[in-house]
Amino acid sequence: MTPESLAREVARDRRPGPASGADASRFVNAWVETEALGAERVPAFVLILRTRGCYWADAKGCSMCGYARDTLGRSATPAELGEQLARALHRYHDEPYVKVYTSGSFLDDREVDAPSREAIVRAFSGRARRFLFETLPEFATAETVGPLRDAFAGELEVALGLESTDPVVLARFVHKNAPPSDYLAAADRVRRLGARAKAYLLLKPPYLAESEAIDDVVRSVAEAAPRFDALSVNPVHIQGGTVVEWLFRRGRYRPPWLWSVVEALREGARRRGTARLVSFPTAGGLPRGPHNCGACDARVLAAIEEASLDQRFEVLEGLDCACRESWRTGCRLEPLGVEA
Ligand code: SF4
Repeated sequence: MTPESLAREVARDRRPGPASGADASRFVNAWVETEALGAERVPAFVLILRTRGCYWADAKGCSMCGYARDTLGRSATPAELGEQLARALHRYHDEPYVKVYTSGSFLDDREVDAPSREAIVRAFSGRARRFLFETLPEFATAETVGPLRDAFAGELEVALGLESTDPVVLARFVHKNAPPSDYLAAADRVRRLGARAKAYLLLKPPYLAESEAIDDVVRSVAEAAPRFDALSVNPVHIQGGTVVEWLFRRGRYRPPWLWSVVEALREGARRRGTARLVSFPTAGGLPRGPHNCGACDARVLAAIEEASLDQRFEVLEGLDCACRESWRTGCRLEPLGVEA
């Protein structure tokens, strides 16, 4: 019997069943974070809706993504989505930037049906200046994006998890379901429809050494910049129920150094053209997130945030710490012990 692939085995184990008991009338999480609209720093309201989640995560999923754990195991009804929205609006205080995620694709009808999508967008229209959601590229069409653009009096921003412009990295290391060209084509469609396109780029998928990961992101910034309005470098953090966690637990994966984020931004800034380039590392400074030696993490994270918010990358130039030399050495020598 052919053994199941690691990715498919991990996917099967992490997904909640339809009788998971998760309360479908409650969203997963909501919080406010600092963002920027142009040169202005603004508060952003972030909302994670509870839906059936990403269909690709059922079959195999991406090597670093454990969001399926926050899903229902079945589609939420329009009434349940309406309740989640009503609860979220109690927490919303007219923050000018709104980001709504679903642990999958906002534009997939199985996660959020079309009338519910429009109701959600309308609820923030006239109150927020920009509304962002994330989707897989195949769902970003004139039929799905057009009505939302018309429903929102402000900027609509469509985020796409491009991760890498290298087809081999994307297919074999990240395990995405579509090639980079599909993401670039979706960005073109989105912009033609009058919305902004934002790409998430993954720093250090499994099986890449630290230096290879930096090169991959920097090249991806250069190749994606002409097609997107904004690029966000997302260093891997270890999520539960993922291939990355499987490797991490066996000592086969170290989350990226913050020095690698600094390097990716410094080099990327020279190649970003007119696109915004940002990074807001999740779990920064923690063992399961991107981290340095511990002594310099807070300082380096503050500089990364400042550079991202203000698009002033000079703040990254003067940074140093004794651990920077270890990072330089490790960049070239990191023993992965795993064959891709
Ligand atoms: S990263 Fe996106 S496409 Fe990949 S499994 Fe997670 S939600 Fe699905």
